[in-house]
Amino acid sequence: MSTIEVRKITKKFGEFVAVRDADLSVAAGEVVCLLGPSGCGKTTTLRMIAGLERATAGDVVIAGQRMNDLSPEKRNIAMVFQFYALYPALTVGQNIAMPLHHEGIGTAEIAVRVNKVADILHLSDVLDRLPGQVSEGEKQRVAVARAIVRDPNCFLFDEPLSRLDVELRHSMRGQIKAVLSNLSKATVIVTHDQLEALTMADRIAIMRDGLIEQVGSPHEVFARPANIFVASFIGTPQMNLIEAEFKGYGNGKATVTFDQQDVDLSVNPAVANLRPGRVTVGVRPRAFSVVPEDTADTIDAMAELIEPMGAETLIHARTKTGSDIRVVVPRDKKVKTGEALYLVPDPAQTHIFAEDGKAVRV
Ligand code: ATP
Repeated sequence: MSTIEVRKITKKFGEFVAVRDADLSVAAGEVVCLLGPSGCGKTTTLRMIAGLERATAGDVVIAGQRMNDLSPEKRNIAMVFQFYALYPALTVGQNIAMPLHHEGIGTAEIAVRVNKVADILHLSDVLDRLPGQVSEGEKQRVAVARAIVRDPNCFLFDEPLSRLDVELRHSMRGQIKAVLSNLSKATVIVTHDQLEALTMADRIAIMRDGLIEQVGSPHEVFARPANIFVASFIGTPQMNLIEAEFKGYGNGKATVTFDQQDVDLSVNPAVANLRPGRVTVGVRPRAFSVVPEDTADTIDAMAELIEPMGAETLIHARTKTGSDIRVVVPRDKKVKTGEALYLVPDPAQTHIFAEDGKAVRV
C-alpha cells in the first residue's frame, strides 16, 4: 500500500533546527502539499522522506516499512525536482524510458509503458523529438512522465511548476492533479505558492520555522485557521487581523474594543470561556457587509484607496486611529474615496485569536 508516515522527524544542521518534530501521514492516493514561506523547512522535510537527507531524530515509514537506514534508491520513490534535467541528446521517449533501463526491463515492455504514460501526459506526438525541440510545459510533463513510468511507492515533487509561466502553471496544476488522482499513490508536493496548494492538495501542511502549524483540507485551513500565522498566510487579499481588547461575552456576542470603538461581534461561543484581555480579531476582506448606518455592531472606517479587481473591488479603509482594513465588495457596489464605511463582519467568518495566537473555538 502506497503510504507515507513521517513521525516526529527533526533535522538539525549543527545547532540550527531546520525541521522540528514534524508528524505527517499521507494515505494512498492522497496528495499533501507542504506549504510555507522560504526557509521554513519544506524541502528539508521532503529530502528526509526521499532519503537525500538523514533525519536527526524521528522515523520515515513508507508503505509500512521504516526507511531511515535505506538509501534513496532502495526507497522506491519517484521524485520530480524544480530543476529537472532531461538528457538533451536523448529523445523524449528515451528520456521517459531511462528509469526502466536502469531496472533492467525488456525493450517490448518498456515501449508499452512509455506509450502508456505518454498518452496520459499528452506527449505521444513528441516522443521522437529532442528536449530542445519541445515547449517548457512539455519538458515539465516529460519529467513527470519519467517519474510515473516506474511503479514507485510514492511521489515527491519539489516546486514542480515554479519554472513555468503563469498560464502554463495554471493548466499544469490541473493536469498533474488529474494524473495523480488516477495513480493511487501517496504524494507530497512542496510549494510556496498557496494557489498551487489550494488547487492540487487533498490536504495542506502549513509550515513555519521548521514546525508544522496546521494540517487540513484546503477548505479547513482557509475557513478554520488554527492560529494567526495560518490565517495570515492563506487567502488573498490577506485576512484582516485587528488587535483588540476583549471585554466580555453575552447574548452570543463578544464585546471588543479597538481604536476606541466598542464593537459587539457575533463570534464562536467558545469565546465565552476567554478571560478579558488582548485578542486578535480576524476577518477576511470578503466577509464584511457594508451597512448604511453606524450601530453597536459595526466597525467604522473610511475608504482611502479603491482598487478595481475585475468582478470585485478592493477597498483599503482606515479606522479613526489609523488601522488598515481591507474590504472586498462586488464591483457594482459603488464606494468613493473618503466615504464612511460601516462594516459588519460575517459571524461564520470572524475569528478570535487569543493572546498566544491560537484560534478560540469549540
Ligand atoms: P525554500 O522555499 O526557500 O526552498 P524551504 O522551506 O524549502 O525553503 P529548506 O530548504 O528546507 O526550506 O531549509 C530550511 C532551513 O534549513 C533554511 O533556513 C536553510 O537555510 C537551512 N538549511 C537547509 N539545508 C541546509 C544545509 N545543508 N546546511 C545548513 N542549513 C541548511
